[in-house]
Amino acid sequence: PAVTETTEDTAAPAEDTTEPAADTAASGAGKKVGVAMPTQSSERWINDGANMKSQLEALGYEVDLQYAEDDVQAQVSQIENMIAGGVNCLVIASIDSQALVNVEEQAKAAGIPIIAYDRLLMDTDAVSYYATFDNKGVGTAIGKYIEESKDLPAAKAAGEFYTIEFFMGSPDDNNAVMLYNGVMEVLQPYLDDGTLVCKSGRTSFEDTCILRWSQETAQQNCENYLTGFYADDKLDIACSAFDGFAYGIKAALEGAGYTLGEDWPLITGQDAELMAVKNIISGYQTMSIYKDTRLLAEKCVTMVQAVLEGSEPEINDTEQYNNNKLVVPSYLCTPVAVDSGNYEEIIVDGGYYTADQLAE
Ligand code: BGC
Repeated sequence: PAVTETTEDTAAPAEDTTEPAADTAASGAGKKVGVAMPTQSSERWINDGANMKSQLEALGYEVDLQYAEDDVQAQVSQIENMIAGGVNCLVIASIDSQALVNVEEQAKAAGIPIIAYDRLLMDTDAVSYYATFDNKGVGTAIGKYIEESKDLPAAKAAGEFYTIEFFMGSPDDNNAVMLYNGVMEVLQPYLDDGTLVCKSGRTSFEDTCILRWSQETAQQNCENYLTGFYADDKLDIACSAFDGFAYGIKAALEGAGYTLGEDWPLITGQDAELMAVKNIISGYQTMSIYKDTRLLAEKCVTMVQAVLEGSEPEINDTEQYNNNKLVVPSYLCTPVAVDSGNYEEIIVDGGYYTADQLAE
């Protein structure tokens, strides 16, 4: 039941229409690429899948795009089916980065190269390249945004403090830990000196991670924090690692009687989903991290071409992404913090969403 195939009408708002260079236009003819994506429940992955499909097809590749709706076993079956279906290369954005080791072995035995998409594939030597965003950089960008917009150095000097709670990503996703480390690189000193106060006491990754990036769990955690620790105080900052969490946090705050323009806290996010940017415009979310999935797909496609056609892909990191078996040669795209002050320039002028989409 969790196995779905995308159709035209799930096409992304940010679907790429870039034309391939004429001399490479048909280089993929006769070859098939399996693209395994985690879920359609979050908009970013719909964009990712649509961009990969259109860019690969523009080069002549046949594409088998599958979404597993966050069901780990469904993703394993989908990849097995891709192998049985004779794909020449696999592109995988995993649900559980450690759960695919066996199926990755099968691919390797069948001579099918694997590219890790956005999320690192752990504990396997069957992966050739990794295309992603600078995942620790996402965390430092979120941390710095909080530091600057609340002017934490000034608060510290004045002996003031802000309350903060953390909503971190899935423990089976290597990106989530890196993001957490980036956030804490900036914010830990302020927690240590009391400029930031986490009343729940939940500041470790283990205590704040949310399995499968679940919006419902984020909402529930926020409700629990608000009733358990903020009966007499206000929450000033919700440090959230994902737009989906921000939606759940918004619902929890509304339920607890917080009011926009009065005591509404600073809420962070990630992905710059359409709904999130709308919430940034209305004030219900403060910022998000814009990840141009068109660019990520473009970098990933060069990696597919490299393994299938012997070309050289662009790599800009050969140190950070050790998956316990090897350091995977990677391309890291740059994440960008967006808020009400710069979304027009970055998101609208950048062609990611139109002003009309945001006004709907
Ligand atoms: C991605 C994020 C995304 C999250 C939840 C992570 O692996 O890097 O962009 O917000 O998964 O889907």
